[in-house]
Amino acid sequence: MVLLKADCWQPKAKKMYEISIKTLFSSAHQLIGYNGVCENLHGHNWTAEVFVRTGKLDEIGLGIDYKILKGHTDSILSKLDHENINKVVPFDKINPSSENIARWLFQELSAVINTNNLKVFRVNIKETENFSASYSDESV
Ligand SMILES: [Zn+2]
Repeated sequence: MVLLKADCWQPKAKKMYEISIKTLFSSAHQLIGYNGVCENLHGHNWTAEVFVRTGKLDEIGLGIDYKILKGHTDSILSKLDHENINKVVPFDKINPSSENIARWLFQELSAVINTNNLKVFRVNIKETENFSASYSDESV
């Protein structure tokens, strides 16, 4: 019998930095096909958390400036802020669940900020303090 050391469990273990920001937006949505009150139009003060990873810092020791990361995130989320999300593309065609909003923000933000050295790793969307959904790319 061969006993493995704990660090043998992570073949892709990398050393890297993870930078995160948190921001808020307020929107209404309704879940189509949901059997319950969430099918009715209702609002949330949503929280979006974004996590990016990089193995490399710039000349002053930053992975990405928090203000730049938050600025890009807020710019994308401005499409949803104070709107009925069900009327905003692509949520006029797909349910505006926290899961789908997390994937959408992940993809939109990745298109703007990903480089060879820095990638969006995870987006968490919170409807309330107790309920949230994340979308991530485990290959990052
Ligand atoms: Zn809701």
